[in-house]
Amino acid sequence: MNLIRKFSSYYKPHMKLFMLDMFCALGIAGLDLVFPILSRNILNIYIPDKNLHALAVTAVAMLVLYVVRALFNYVVFYWGHVVGVRMEYDMRRDLFGHLHTMDMSFFDSSRTGKLMSRLVNDLNLITELAHHGPEDLFISMIMIFGSFIILMNIEWRLTLIIFFFVPFIFIFAVWKSLRMRTKFRTVKEKIAVVNSQIENSLSGIRVSKAFANEEFEEEKFQHGNMTFRLSRTDAFKTMAEFYSTIYLFMNLLTLVTIAFGGYFVFLDRISYGDLLAFILYISFFLEPLKKLTNFAEQYQNGMSGFERFSEIMKIEPKIKNIENPKILSDVKGDISIENVSFSYEDNEENKVLKDVNIKIDAGKTVALVGPSGGGKTTLCHLIPRFYDVTGGEIKIDGENIKGFSIKSLRNQIGLVQQNVFLFTGTIRENIIYGNLDATDDEMIEAAKNASIHEFITSLPEGYDTFIGERGVKLSGGQKQRLSIARVFLKNPPILILDEATSALDNATEIVIQESLERLSKGRTVLVIAHRLSTIKNADEIIVINDSGIQEQGTHDLLLKSGGIYADLYKSQFKGFI
Ligand code: ADP
Ligand code: MG
Repeated sequence: MNLIRKFSSYYKPHMKLFMLDMFCALGIAGLDLVFPILSRNILNIYIPDKNLHALAVTAVAMLVLYVVRALFNYVVFYWGHVVGVRMEYDMRRDLFGHLHTMDMSFFDSSRTGKLMSRLVNDLNLITELAHHGPEDLFISMIMIFGSFIILMNIEWRLTLIIFFFVPFIFIFAVWKSLRMRTKFRTVKEKIAVVNSQIENSLSGIRVSKAFANEEFEEEKFQHGNMTFRLSRTDAFKTMAEFYSTIYLFMNLLTLVTIAFGGYFVFLDRISYGDLLAFILYISFFLEPLKKLTNFAEQYQNGMSGFERFSEIMKIEPKIKNIENPKILSDVKGDISIENVSFSYEDNEENKVLKDVNIKIDAGKTVALVGPSGGGKTTLCHLIPRFYDVTGGEIKIDGENIKGFSIKSLRNQIGLVQQNVFLFTGTIRENIIYGNLDATDDEMIEAAKNASIHEFITSLPEGYDTFIGERGVKLSGGQKQRLSIARVFLKNPPILILDEATSALDNATEIVIQESLERLSKGRTVLVIAHRLSTIKNADEIIVINDSGIQEQGTHDLLLKSGGIYADLYKSQFKGFI
């Protein structure tokens, strides 16, 4: 019930159109109920009376009504679908927006393919359900009750005989519909798996080629594809049983009408005209039954999609603004990480960070060093609140970051990571992403600062060069420089550099290091580096491993004290010193 209420709420913005649609649907039902009466009059009265005038008038009237019906039909078909299409658009918009409010832990545990499937496939059938649903139900009810009342007036015994069978058809239809509903739900789940596999496999195409694992990928896909095939086959089997039986029932109903109706004509209880009316009504009546069963099918398709849609819409993001959050602006840039502990949701016993304390004064650079898996990236993600700390607090300029609006917090932080993500599109689009209001001059300035302007202008299409899917047409260094240009354009007071150059070769690293130093000027910086040469000049270096902070001090100090850092440094420069 709740689901239907939620579904209905999507009608609200389109109420006027929907009412027009329903009005015309009502018109169609009304006209359809009138036609058999007119035909019956012709047979029962005008033909025996040889009343040519009445016959002609009725024929002309019917002609006009048919045209009106055609107009109504046009409105119902076209504008009805328009209502559906608009509702589907609204739902897709809401779901897309909602997905963007979800926090990172949601995306850690969901599959992109599944989410895509919900956005695309699940909502695809809403258009049909949205207008056929109410319209068909409405027309069918009126047609069935209307015919029943009119036929009862002509000959109640015959009517009761015919309508005796109707409940059985309905019970059968409802029973089978329910079964179809579960079957269609399974189909939806399977297609989501297939989508997700395609997405995963194609985005990893380079890896599968490198390992020559195309056949393995194919086999993996076969399995998903086969379960999808089987689930659809199964759904169609139920559908086939459903339709063949319903048509059989409907034909039997016509047979009953003709046989018993004929007998009633023998008995002179009804005339030929009445029998014609009965047959016409029953044939009209088949239409609503078909519509009802169609509706049952659309309902299953649409509603199982809508159900999955609302399941996601119900999920509340765990990381959200407090009521009346402060806007973080004019930041000085003091960051203090106080007694911070953190564990990922799926592994709560295993704390990634335990009582970490780090203080970064405004404008200073603090470097984190430590073994892989020590929680450095995790710590970087806590500052812009991709995840929330499970203990302790993080403050900017002395205030807990949870008190600021998330948008204003993230606006003050620039993040450069090892794995650069570029959007499929042009160079311009990717740089401008850092500040959507930036002018061309500002964009070029940022590119120059990131030492990529010259490369870009050497391309035939310059800033409008298409960089391929996720930037495949660029080298690792070029990608990283674009991502740095993006941050230059954003111009945030706080900067987080998470192994920004680790994936690059030494020569490229040196060039990019220059840009990064330029970028760091005048900002508060938390830098994580794999190669210690790049952090020598940091104001403070912190050595962290999974049992917490081990050492802390300047490069010279740490080197002198001869601890973990000194060992690490020496091992990296073996042969150089
Ligand atoms: P580092 O950057 O120091 O190499 P990370 O912060 O990436 O370390 O990872 C720290 C630990 O947290 C690792 O044990 C890793 O398995 C785990 N981890 C990282 N990201 C996630 C995630 N999204 N969900 C669950 N566990 C994660
Ligand atoms: Mg890391």
